[in-house]
Amino acid sequence: MQTFVWKLQAGDAVTFPTPWGPTVFIRSRAQWDSDEAFRKHEATHIRQIKRWGAAKYLWLHLWTRLRHFDMFLYNHPIEREAYDAERLPWPDDV
Ligand SMILES: [Zn+2]
Repeated sequence: MQTFVWKLQAGDAVTFPTPWGPTVFIRSRAQWDSDEAFRKHEATHIRQIKRWGAAKYLWLHLWTRLRHFDMFLYNHPIEREAYDAERLPWPDDV
């Protein structure tokens, strides 16, 4: 996974499509390296970008957050998939 350390103001990571491919912007390299569930969660968002394409991914994430006035949508299908993945083995396509 392509990562970039960026001092995020909110949250531990954000995964965005970029011209260089899907990229996980992380607050802390040490946290990223030590937390496998965290890496599985963001890997799910990378698979969502590959599955849907950049525009649909961004639209679904932004729209669902605006619609619910909530940045941490544990029960929305987009985030539910990522939180579920934290407890599962690594998929073959990562
Ligand atoms: Zn997430």
